[in-house]
Amino acid sequence: MKMRSFYLGELTWLDVEEFLKAHKTVMVPVGSCEQHGPHLPLDTDAYDAFWLSLKAAEKAQCALVAPPIYYGVSLHHMDFPGTITLSPQTLEQVAYEVGVCLTKHGFNKILFENGHGGNTPALEAAAQRIKAETNAFVAIDTVSLIPDFVEKFIETPYDAHAGEFETSTTLANRESLVVKERIAKPQLTLPKSKYTKIGLKEAGPKVSWAFRTKELSNTGVIGDPTKASKDKGEKAWKLAIERLVDFLKELDSM
Ligand SMILES: [Zn+2]
Repeated sequence: MKMRSFYLGELTWLDVEEFLKAHKTVMVPVGSCEQHGPHLPLDTDAYDAFWLSLKAAEKAQCALVAPPIYYGVSLHHMDFPGTITLSPQTLEQVAYEVGVCLTKHGFNKILFENGHGGNTPALEAAAQRIKAETNAFVAIDTVSLIPDFVEKFIETPYDAHAGEFETSTTLANRESLVVKERIAKPQLTLPKSKYTKIGLKEAGPKVSWAFRTKELSNTGVIGDPTKASKDKGEKAWKLAIERLVDFLKELDSM
């Protein structure tokens, strides 16, 4: 079947009905509108989740991308202007209702393609509820498919937010929106305990914990964006798209 678009929002209901005769997978990108330091756009997580989903869907040709959920759980960033947050309960409910609607039309494999770590607990709760009610397969990807890239190329051990990773990936997909003259290492006040996890790279033994970004960082950046490069970002996207395409194809044949 030749699709004009893999973005559900650009299709007609007839196109979706036709697509569902052959494939049952849909991605729901989930993002945030939250501060990303003095140098990255507020919508980074939402834009990236949608961008990655579309690239992968176009390559895989066996999944559609639903309109993104542009707001997320960003309570910890509210000290910085422009941040808009949902409560975890609201995000859970929106994700749950979107998921249930999609299953009613026949999508029985749903992947929440999540661009923001703060959304994960709410999405996991929604996934449990969708599964219990509809028996659909529901999964969540929060930068989970490229741990080997992070291990190999990200030098900052506490890289968590608007730092080396996210600045690199934004240089690679929206360079014109990176305010390069403001890329700087923040003054960080990291927690004293070696058991508190922060960042993409830290494996256990660690506990998760709730924090306010402003208590940790003067600029909102948690990490070191001066270590970012467009090359690292391009490598990250290439691998992320490859892995996601592979996952979508596996879902399609499941
Ligand atoms: Zn982000």
